[in-house]
Amino acid sequence: MTKKSSRSTGHRPHLRSNTNQTTTATPQTIRHVNRSILLNLIRLRQPVSRAELSRITGMHRSNISVIVEELVSEGLLREERSKPVGRGRVPFFLYVSEDSVYVLGVNLRVSETKIALGQLSGKIEKLASFDTPKDPKLFVQMLDREIRRLLMTVRPSLRKSVRNLIVSVPGHIHSKTQGDVWIPALPAYSGFSLRAAIEDKTGISTDVMNNASLGALAEMWLEEMQHVDLKDFIFLVIGDVGTGSGLIFHHHLYLGHDLTFAGEFGHMVIDPAGPKCACGKKGCWQLYVCDRATWERYQPAERFTSAVFQKFLQGVKDREPRAIAALRETAKYLALGISNISQALNPEVIIFGGEITGVWDILQPEITKHLSRLNTRTAIRPAKDNMDQLFLQGAIHLGLRKIFDPPTMGLAMPKS
Ligand SMILES: [Zn+2]
Repeated sequence: MTKKSSRSTGHRPHLRSNTNQTTTATPQTIRHVNRSILLNLIRLRQPVSRAELSRITGMHRSNISVIVEELVSEGLLREERSKPVGRGRVPFFLYVSEDSVYVLGVNLRVSETKIALGQLSGKIEKLASFDTPKDPKLFVQMLDREIRRLLMTVRPSLRKSVRNLIVSVPGHIHSKTQGDVWIPALPAYSGFSLRAAIEDKTGISTDVMNNASLGALAEMWLEEMQHVDLKDFIFLVIGDVGTGSGLIFHHHLYLGHDLTFAGEFGHMVIDPAGPKCACGKKGCWQLYVCDRATWERYQPAERFTSAVFQKFLQGVKDREPRAIAALRETAKYLALGISNISQALNPEVIIFGGEITGVWDILQPEITKHLSRLNTRTAIRPAKDNMDQLFLQGAIHLGLRKIFDPPTMGLAMPKS
């Protein structure tokens, strides 16, 4: 292929594949790869001219023209003359045709499920939501009904432009069974083939993925749109009763050797004599940093709910001494875990998601203070958006990448 470097074209964050399939580089594959590179670049950097594409990718202008004309004739791109400034030549700019391809992102949460209709640029055009039922079969029926309703409100003929659907779940997906999920907070869903059931009912190509993994992908793509190359980081979600994380290593999402899960830092034992965790061990990190733990430090007599946690956040904002003391204790434990994670993986940054980031201006200096005592200098920052939005954004971007990413190139290596 004719590109200068992977850096100059932006990254292509495909998932690690554990299949032994090999794609050989026929001229047709190279053309397909170049086509994907160009379409993704235009999608992320529009408006962009043919000359800029040539400069960024190192591809010859004539090769770019052939591919661009093909994409324009397929209705995926449009080219418009920009406004004339002065007496020089007026350049043409390329844009993606937003309404040519759609993907659906679904964020399945314990209480509520959200559906987002995503355009070719990754922008969310329309949202819908429904209460998540406890029964997964009922969930599939409700999802199908709501998707039909959503598409009809935009355009009756839209269904045929929808290429795929990605579902974000607060749990794991078993790679061997191709879509059985394990969602501890929704016991009836565990062992249910969510992907196959949704595909059968809706007729739309479907994938199911862990929410923190999608959050990590969304963070990487949102940075890419700002022309920031973020390639090794950890996205850490501090949740109601647990933690989750997405690991990105060199632009790739890491899901462990069997593509099932990785980064379950919440179950690192920090005190073998600590309280019992749902996983069966004692003193897991998540028991000290989740929102329930913080709440119990603040108001031990009142039962924790995600709604009541807002009272704690308000208490911190009002500089209530009891709330500040509880936050400081949580920050101390957060720093302890971050230090362990940093020692093991040395990421560029650890990005935090969750309700507790609502008081980041007070939380961050507390964490940093403890980190410096632990000799840890890893950068930390809050996520770019709220979790709901980020999981949907990640689902939509992944859906688009699945359509437009080039095939993975590789050489067949004999097994030793
Ligand atoms: Zn545990």
